[in-house]
Amino acid sequence: MRVILLGPPGVGKGTQGLLLCEHLGIPHIATGDLLRFAVKWKTEIGKKAQSYMEAGELVPDDVVLELLKTRLSQPDAKNGFVLDGFPRTIPQADALAASLSEIGHHVDAVVSLEVPDDVVVQRLSSRASCPTCGRTYAMKDFAPSQCPSDGTTLFQRDDDKPDVIRKRLDVFRDQTAPLRRYYEERGLLLKIDGVGGVDEVQERLVKAVENR
Ligand code: AMP
Repeated sequence: MRVILLGPPGVGKGTQGLLLCEHLGIPHIATGDLLRFAVKWKTEIGKKAQSYMEAGELVPDDVVLELLKTRLSQPDAKNGFVLDGFPRTIPQADALAASLSEIGHHVDAVVSLEVPDDVVVQRLSSRASCPTCGRTYAMKDFAPSQCPSDGTTLFQRDDDKPDVIRKRLDVFRDQTAPLRRYYEERGLLLKIDGVGGVDEVQERLVKAVENR
């Protein structure tokens, strides 16, 4: 199954995406994580992406597409994947559809996780992230210094600071939110209420994807 998770930063795409992948037995592919690794390892793509990411802006489509196509060509993505953070623009969505159709595939479902803006800002400004597995933890409820899953030291992302958060939400509204309509017109959009506990939201998500 090929699923896209759509929603603003902080809506829970990472947490919910990882759980959905465990449930479906397919990989979780998050372009933000791939880009952070590229920046950390100072690859050519990382060097091109870094300044955009620090400013909360989108990395140019051609740079992200190159990274995504390489990832999708790995054997574990052959039977499906959950995409988190991609596509973020209509040209990215068109490019994804084109490259899947070249190999006889298509997107099966696009889940829009819906949460009010103030909840999103609150979640982003209080989250700690694991640089290894991409899991995030709410610092207000639970403040581990190491990832309970793999022991890596957690950190606050540079772009989880208030001014960059606001910029990322503006970018979402202007460039990514139109994808809801794009996928609605193609009969692929499933809307899910993203407010609630992790298990509760996951249950809604699994149900929506399985009953699509
Ligand atoms: P995320 O971890 O999904 O919040 O992404 C972090 C940052 O990586 C974003 O603010 C963008 O700068 C960049 N990024 C991630 N995915 C994409 C994408 N599909 N297109 C453009 N930029 C992206």
